[in-house]
Amino acid sequence: MDAEPWEDRKAMTEMLHTPVIAWFDAHARDLPWRRPEAGPWGVMVSEFMLQQTPVNRVLPVYEEWLSRWPRPADLAKEAPGEAVRAWGRLGYPRRALRLHGAAVAITERHGGDVPTDHGQLLALPGIGEYTAAAVASFAYGQRHPVLDTNVRRVFARAVTGVQYPPNATTAAERRLARELLPESESTAARWAAASMELGALVCTAKNEGCGRCPIAAQCAWRLAGKPEHAGPPRRGQTYAGTDRQVRGKLLAVLREAHTPVPQGVLDRVWHEPVQRARALDGLVTDGLVEPLPGGLYRLPLS
Ligand code: SF4
Repeated sequence: MDAEPWEDRKAMTEMLHTPVIAWFDAHARDLPWRRPEAGPWGVMVSEFMLQQTPVNRVLPVYEEWLSRWPRPADLAKEAPGEAVRAWGRLGYPRRALRLHGAAVAITERHGGDVPTDHGQLLALPGIGEYTAAAVASFAYGQRHPVLDTNVRRVFARAVTGVQYPPNATTAAERRLARELLPESESTAARWAAASMELGALVCTAKNEGCGRCPIAAQCAWRLAGKPEHAGPPRRGQTYAGTDRQVRGKLLAVLREAHTPVPQGVLDRVWHEPVQRARALDGLVTDGLVEPLPGGLYRLPLS
């Protein structure tokens, strides 16, 4: 398909924004962080958890987290190790430390309220470009390009005409996301949520549900006959046997323990000593585990 229609703003609204937002209005999942009572803190917590973790695994941890720490100041009062413990098996647990660090900064610098200003959000520790834009957009209805993996895939297919986006976000994708952003602030915020939901529910990585897609008629990749991915191999998500798996097993023992754990107990989680030591060292370096004298370990207290 000729790319020109997308460059015309009126055509873009008619062909892309209106159908995707209408689809979202009819099909969006009722998720707790989308309800008004979630507030900006609920949105922020969900955004940390949802990066790299599916919704169904996030839901129970999110609910527990928000009932235990309904405001940033509640979390900030706790030791960072409590955040790691409550993170449970969501994976990539450095996110728990970063969320704790953000809660401390929000409490110290912003009186306990998640800042509304995009620049102030971005200045919080542990908050990158994506999370700042997502919180500003979903919590405060602002106009920002929100580029997660789902949105990137929808744009790659519908607009650029390729099966998958590049492995890492490129300047061209950022530019495209800015170009595709609706003019009006409230429409832009709806568009961000709607395009993300379309990627999560219809235009997924494994299957594209073109038969129920609101923009199938104008999707560049579909109209081109769905040419196969020609870029570099896509990164796999292997887990078994990796250091990530060993780190997960070590942390699971420490999460369960409420007193320091001897090295010998940790040694039982993995048979291979070199990999086990490397995984434990990595956890200590990342601040997720605190070594104590006498070969004892615990989740971090500060
Ligand atoms: S038509 Fe198919 S490939 Fe194109 S955006 Fe919709 S679901 Fe994805």
